[in-house]
Amino acid sequence: MTLASTTAAAARRPRSRQWGIGEYEVAGQLVYFEVSWDDWRRDTAWARGLLADYGVGPVKGDGPGGTGGGSPPCVEKVGGGLVIVAGMAESPWFDPFETAACELGAPYSIGEIYAFEAFRSGLYASRLPVTMIFGIDRTVAEGLGEDLAGIVARVPVIVARPDAAGLLAQAGAKPFIVTRLGPGIAVECPHRSGAHVNGAEWTLAERSGELFLSTAGPRAHQVSEAALGLRGTLTDGPCACGRAGQRVAITG
Ligand SMILES: [Zn+2]
Repeated sequence: MTLASTTAAAARRPRSRQWGIGEYEVAGQLVYFEVSWDDWRRDTAWARGLLADYGVGPVKGDGPGGTGGGSPPCVEKVGGGLVIVAGMAESPWFDPFETAACELGAPYSIGEIYAFEAFRSGLYASRLPVTMIFGIDRTVAEGLGEDLAGIVARVPVIVARPDAAGLLAQAGAKPFIVTRLGPGIAVECPHRSGAHVNGAEWTLAERSGELFLSTAGPRAHQVSEAALGLRGTLTDGPCACGRAGQRVAITG
């Protein structure tokens, strides 16, 4: 038995049609949803495009060469590793970004979303050639305490959850936004025109400031007008990054 023969044997075994299962809340009720392997592959391709826009790729040079926390990124400055701050149960949303980072040749580390784990994200961001923090939330930003300002000054690109944006701005960052939207996700591109929704997969609607999500693509999970319990504003039309379609700004 060799590694090659074991891998080949594993590949021949029947595979579950599910890549994974996640959960989100609608009006206080948990909704479980499936992610198929095809869903995951398309999500990974989309994530890869967004990370590539930020210059995520193989490490260049000895370190990030801090550009002052949120200065406009470019490939030359940003190429390097990243810390993805996401919980294990958030894999349906964030695993495509981990896989995309691998595909782009960028080393990445995982930071969990618990306060007691904040030090781990902080340690990686302080000691390693990390040029992007992706997914930091308020719990971790608060957990970094007085180290936060130093990390912001060292890491060129911070893509944060909406609840962390204020705290990060106070610390000197100009964060971009990543936000979960029920079973979907939205990510801002370097042009700061709101967080992009992958329109091939999801459609958002806004009524009286409330956001509703529907499935648009051939996903395992089909939902219509799920009330997300989020408030926000929508923009549509072409973005300077070349993507078209909806962008969302979460307001509450
Ligand atoms: Zn864009």
